[in-house]
Amino acid sequence: MSINDTGLNIVENNKNNLSIYVHIPFCNSKCAYCSFVSVVGSDEEKKRYFDNLVTEIKLQSKNYRQFYSVGSIYIGGGTPSCLDYYFIRDLLSSIYKNFSVKNTAEITIELNPGTIDKNKVREYILSGVNRFSVGLQSINPKILRAMGRTHTPEDFDKAISTIREFGIKNISSDMIIGYPKQTLTDVKETLMYLIEKDVPHISIYMLQVEEGTALKKMVDNNSVALPEEDLVIKMYNYVSEVLAEKGYARYELSNFAKFGYESYHNKVYWNRKDYLGLGLAAHSYINGTRFSNTENLAEYTEMLETKETLPTIMSKTLSTEEMKEEAIMLSLRTAEGLNLESYTAEFGENFLAKKKSLIAKLIESGFLKLTNNHLVCTQKGYLVLNQIVLQLCS
Ligand code: SF4
Repeated sequence: MSINDTGLNIVENNKNNLSIYVHIPFCNSKCAYCSFVSVVGSDEEKKRYFDNLVTEIKLQSKNYRQFYSVGSIYIGGGTPSCLDYYFIRDLLSSIYKNFSVKNTAEITIELNPGTIDKNKVREYILSGVNRFSVGLQSINPKILRAMGRTHTPEDFDKAISTIREFGIKNISSDMIIGYPKQTLTDVKETLMYLIEKDVPHISIYMLQVEEGTALKKMVDNNSVALPEEDLVIKMYNYVSEVLAEKGYARYELSNFAKFGYESYHNKVYWNRKDYLGLGLAAHSYINGTRFSNTENLAEYTEMLETKETLPTIMSKTLSTEEMKEEAIMLSLRTAEGLNLESYTAEFGENFLAKKKSLIAKLIESGFLKLTNNHLVCTQKGYLVLNQIVLQLCS
């Protein structure tokens, strides 16, 4: 192992792969639809949070460092870019010191347009960041305002240009479909804008109205109406078709990428590979056990600062049945689908034979297809994926 000039540990070994997710729970304001754990936070809270994050990194590295090398790091939130750049620099530096990070690691940061400048981007890159995820959500300023997003389409444009000035091509962006008052024309314009900007990775999220959000209250008191289901289906079908025509492959239900731009980190989640979540409310999956950190900032602080213990509040080793369900649920989201051979090897049973008549019915109805011993969801199937999974798992 050696250290390169960014401080990155260069690892050439046969350790298992680990991905790291770091949650930064700070935003400049709260979006109406957002159920992520995020607060505005004072300067003091931010500083303490990062100090505690470093303690958590040190504690967790004792458990995993010797067995794993890190293949990807994802800094999400929240809005990591709403903080001064040195928080991210020091955070990455601490991960490099405490874990064995591969020199090929994909290192992503989430940004909100309007929260970055040239200096921040330069510092992120010098710290090892090589992939940028820039939230757009919509190109319509009215929809952006209704969502509570504080950026304008011009801010997005500027953010993309700034990142590209440094020669970075690996950029992802996301948009929401199904927001109140959003029309098919809005969706078309947002999508065409991202395509024209040649953003090589696009995530399309169908709006979920989550408990506890401002949007949920507005929907409940009828001050806003959600679009009809038929319209949302039209939106999803439209984006799927256009993205395919424009050379973006759907590699997962919500994720489309040009050749070579699929996210390694995203695929870790759907392929049930090991990942370690650090920070408030972060979730982990390691060696068949799912565990998660507290969502309470005061508790997170107390556990790390006062007690120097991990802020884990839930841990569950999955039973074989739960693992099977996860294998079905997660793999059917992906373009590759459920690999029936791997399923048999892992669980010792032939899934196709076990669910023969149900699978035949779902294939006949056009929800699933069987390709090279993989069970794959069709476009029609993606729209009712939850129901398909429920049937296959019952
Ligand atoms: S910027 Fe993202 S994390 Fe922050 S409030 Fe808005 S949706 Fe939530």
